[in-house]
Amino acid sequence: MALVESAMGHAALLEEQDFYDTVISIKSSDVKTMVDAYRLAAERCDYPLHLGVTEAGTERMGLIKSAAGIGSLLMDGIGDTIRVSLTDDPVKEILAAKDILKAIGVRDDGVKIVSCPTCGRTSIDLIGLANEVEERLRDCKKPLTVAVMGCVVNGPGEAREADIGIAGGKGEALLFKKGEIIGKFPEKEIVNILIREIEKM
Ligand code: SF4
Repeated sequence: MALVESAMGHAALLEEQDFYDTVISIKSSDVKTMVDAYRLAAERCDYPLHLGVTEAGTERMGLIKSAAGIGSLLMDGIGDTIRVSLTDDPVKEILAAKDILKAIGVRDDGVKIVSCPTCGRTSIDLIGLANEVEERLRDCKKPLTVAVMGCVVNGPGEAREADIGIAGGKGEALLFKKGEIIGKFPEKEIVNILIREIEKM
C-alpha cells in the first residue's frame, strides 16, 4: 500500500541519519484505508503509531468514523496515541477522544452511563434525564457505573447491577444504590438526588 510504503521510506531515511525517535502517522479520511494502512504498518515496524481518521467530518459523522477506525485498531492492540479530527470546536475533539477510550475500556476513570433505548413502557422523560445525567457527570472522575433506565419492569435489573441507578415510573423513579432501593422520588427531583448520592460515594 502506497501510504505505508511512503511512511516506511521516511522512517528509513531518518534511520540513515541515526534518528530513531520516530512516531508514524498514516491518516486517511477513508476509515477502511486508514485501518488497513495501520494494520500493515504494525506488521512492518515497531515504531509507535499515531492513529486518526483525518478530515473525518462534522461532529456526528466525524465521531462515528473516528470511533470505528481508531476503536477497531486499539482493540487489536495497534496504536499508541490518537487524534480525533472534527469540523467543530477543538474541545469536542478532546471529549470525543476520551469517550472513544472510555467506550473500549482503555480509560476506566470517570462515570460509565448505562441507559436503555426507551420503548412503549417508558413513562418518564428518559432521553432528557439520561442527557442531563451524562452532562452533569462529565467531569466526575469516580469510576462508577450509573444506570438510567426507563421502566420498573426491566429497569431495576440494570439499576441494581450498577453502582447507582434509577428506574423510571410514571412521573417518578426508583433510586438504587449498590443493589438496594434508596427510595422513590418525583421525576423533577430525581437527577438532583442521584447526583447528591454520587457525591457521597
Ligand atoms: S428498560 Fe424498560 S423502558 Fe427501557 S427499553 Fe427496556 S423495557 Fe423499555
